[in-house]
Amino acid sequence: MKYKAIFFDWDGTAVESRKAPADEVAGLMKPLLAKGIVMIIISGTTYDKIASGELHRYFTEAELENLHLGLGRGALNYSFKNGELMLHEETELNIIQKLKIHESVFKIHQYLLENYTLNTDIVFTRPNYCKLDLMAEYSRNDRLYLQEGEVERLESHLKEQGIKGGLKEVTAIAEEIGKCSEIKLEVTTDAKYLEIGPTTKSDNVDYFVDHILTPQNIGVENACFWGDEYSYLADGIPGSDSYMVTEKTKKGHFFDVSKTSGVLPKEIISMGGGTETFRSFLKEQLSGE
Ligand SMILES: [Mg+2]
Repeated sequence: MKYKAIFFDWDGTAVESRKAPADEVAGLMKPLLAKGIVMIIISGTTYDKIASGELHRYFTEAELENLHLGLGRGALNYSFKNGELMLHEETELNIIQKLKIHESVFKIHQYLLENYTLNTDIVFTRPNYCKLDLMAEYSRNDRLYLQEGEVERLESHLKEQGIKGGLKEVTAIAEEIGKCSEIKLEVTTDAKYLEIGPTTKSDNVDYFVDHILTPQNIGVENACFWGDEYSYLADGIPGSDSYMVTEKTKKGHFFDVSKTSGVLPKEIISMGGGTETFRSFLKEQLSGE
C-alpha cells in the first residue's frame, strides 16, 4: 500500500553507518517529500550525527515542510521552517534534573562494580538520558547499532561476572536503582548500552501523531514505522525501535529490516535485508504513478 506518513530509524535502517553517505537515501526521500508524504526520522541520536547535521541541504524549503525529526530518545522534536531546523518546544531537561539522572546512573555503575566487579563506562552528554556501557572493552567502531552476535557476547560476559540472569537482571537492577530517583526513569537497552532517562522513542512518535499527523488528517493506519532494532534482546526486553509501538501508533504498520534473527514483538513484520530493504520500499512508494 501507499503510505501518507513514513516514520523511520536512521542508523542501521536508512544508512549503514554514520560515515556512510546519505546521498542515496536522501535522493529517494526527496520525491516523496515533494509529493507531500510526511517523513519522520526517529532516532536516539542528535541532528549533528544525521548526515553530519547537513541532511536539510538535500532538500528544498517546500520539501523540508514534510520532513520532521524525533531525536534524543524522546527529548528533541524538530521540523523545518523556511528551510531552517526548528525545535518544536523546549523539551530538554534543566541542569538539576539532568544531574539527578546522572546520579542514578552513577549509582548503577557503583552497584555493578561493587557487587559484580563489572566495569562500565557512562556517557553523560546525551540530551535527556545517560548511556551505561556494559561492554566497555568491546568497540562497535563506527557502527553504532546492535551487531550480530552481540547479545550472546554480552550475556556470556555478564554471566562470567556472576550476573546469572544476564541482561534481564542488569535491566531489573537499573530499574530498581532508578526508582529511588525523583525523576521517573525508563531503562532501555541495545545490548552494549543501557539507556536511562525519562523519555523513549515512544514520546517522539506520540508527539508527531498529535502535532503533525492529526492536524493533517492522516490516520495512523496510513503510517508505517521502519527500524532495525525491534527484536527482543532477552525475555521481556524489547529492542529500542519497539518503543515506536504505542497506544497511539499501534494501528500503524511496523517493519523490521534487521539481518539478525530474533524474536519480534507480535505487531512487527520481519523484512530483513538491512538498509537495502528500506530503500527498495521507498522506491516502491514512488512507483506506479
Ligand atoms: Mg537503528
